[in-house]
Amino acid sequence: MNEADSELVYSMLLAQGYTKVSSYEDADVILFNTCSVRKHAEDRVWGKVGELKRIKGGPPQISQPTASKSKRGGSIMPKTKVLGIIGCMAKAQREKIFERLPHVNFICGPSDIYEIADLIEQAQENPEEHFSAISKRKRPVKKGDCFAPSGFAMTKAGYREEKMRAWVNISYGCDNFCSYCIVPYVRGREISRKSEDIIDEIKMLVDDGVKEVTLLGQNVNSYRSQVAGNRLQVDFVRLLEKINKINGLLRIRFMTSHPKDANADLFKAMRDLDKVCEHLHLPVQSGSDRILRLMNRKYTADNYLKLIEQYRKIVNGGSLTTDIIVGFPTETEEDFYKTYMLMKEVKFDSAFIFKYSPRPYTAAYKMKDDIKKEAKEERNQSLLRLQDRIKKNKGKSLMNIIQQALGTKKAKRGPVSYYSENGKYYLKGRTRTNMQVIYEGNPELIGHLSDVKIKDIEGNTLIGERV
Ligand code: SAH
Ligand code: SF4
Repeated sequence: MNEADSELVYSMLLAQGYTKVSSYEDADVILFNTCSVRKHAEDRVWGKVGELKRIKGGPPQISQPTASKSKRGGSIMPKTKVLGIIGCMAKAQREKIFERLPHVNFICGPSDIYEIADLIEQAQENPEEHFSAISKRKRPVKKGDCFAPSGFAMTKAGYREEKMRAWVNISYGCDNFCSYCIVPYVRGREISRKSEDIIDEIKMLVDDGVKEVTLLGQNVNSYRSQVAGNRLQVDFVRLLEKINKINGLLRIRFMTSHPKDANADLFKAMRDLDKVCEHLHLPVQSGSDRILRLMNRKYTADNYLKLIEQYRKIVNGGSLTTDIIVGFPTETEEDFYKTYMLMKEVKFDSAFIFKYSPRPYTAAYKMKDDIKKEAKEERNQSLLRLQDRIKKNKGKSLMNIIQQALGTKKAKRGPVSYYSENGKYYLKGRTRTNMQVIYEGNPELIGHLSDVKIKDIEGNTLIGERV
């Protein structure tokens, strides 16, 4: 979600005449797009932005006027180095940022990112002042609903880190209020974008060279297109069907799915729609029903197991990944063991494992964070070891299997085991199941599908040979 937002901010600023530079020293504007999901992410921002005092401190620096652009009257004005904190932490820590980091010029919440260009201008004009745009509103989703030129995100194929692949938001915010999670408080309540706007955006992206889109929402399964006269228009499966018809698009991915809302209709769509890739990210969080209840997840471990049984039956060969939290308040060794056993039984293709981090505003914040740091660490390591073993066995089972790869870019280097074969051209791509694969080829294969036979695995990367 943050990568998508960063690309949107780049798009808006590049369209205004800014250019991208590669060092803090060269930049006139430095923005930190931040995450608040865990305290650790915030701590890194406190540290990094704190360090920037070194280059920002003292009187405002005057930079070369050529890199700047003023909207007012079109004249070019000299300006100072501007430092902004944007995204969820700007909202979550709005009362503390200027106090702890007075050299920051402005803060801007996730629903207000269309105001960034204006905030930069204000900060350039008044470098000694602090500015903030932190609203309670939801992210504007309709054309003409926001301050950006005619609903920027919906009308322009903007900047992307990868030419071939694009993030596409289908909804913003979340209504689920899992007890540990800050997302609903910083990103607001859930709102779905209109299906026509999403389709238009994807068509524009395809015209701009995109072959694969990843549809983004905190809970994609609760997607509902804007309702007209209260009549339900388009749900997530219908949306997939519509996107599947877009000519020139090769692949569709989506995340995240919530176990309480994912169902057989979704799995059947994954099976039947040729562009929809067979990868499901389905966070389980815990294997203990008691903890799941305290987390307000609204399913039991048994519900989860039945659901993935159904998934595997319908989506042949589909991959499954998850998120897990260890050390939630009151989690006993027995609760943890249930998570361990669930992981062992399910054999996820990969898993993100997090140590519980108390977050302000959340319901769990009122509970005592009673699991000791060492116990959280131990449980974390234990699951990592288990997942590593599972991954190794899974890797072995892929040998000599043919997978479809979409070449996305030139690989920086070939596989380690092939080092001696200099002068060859290797591509980096992804399988439909979302595994990274490296294979020999040529630049023309970028943006195209190739069948590759899996020959080896190095870390998380498959090594394939075109067949
Ligand atoms: N909407 C998505 C993503 C939410 S944040 C979802 O529901 O899955 C991504 C992951 O961060 C979550 O799945 C959860 O495992 C983890 N997470 C969220 N809040 C956390 C917290 N307070 N401490 C530790 N991990 C957390
Ligand atoms: Fe957070 Fe739960 Fe919403 Fe995911 S579904 S964003 S974990 S509240």
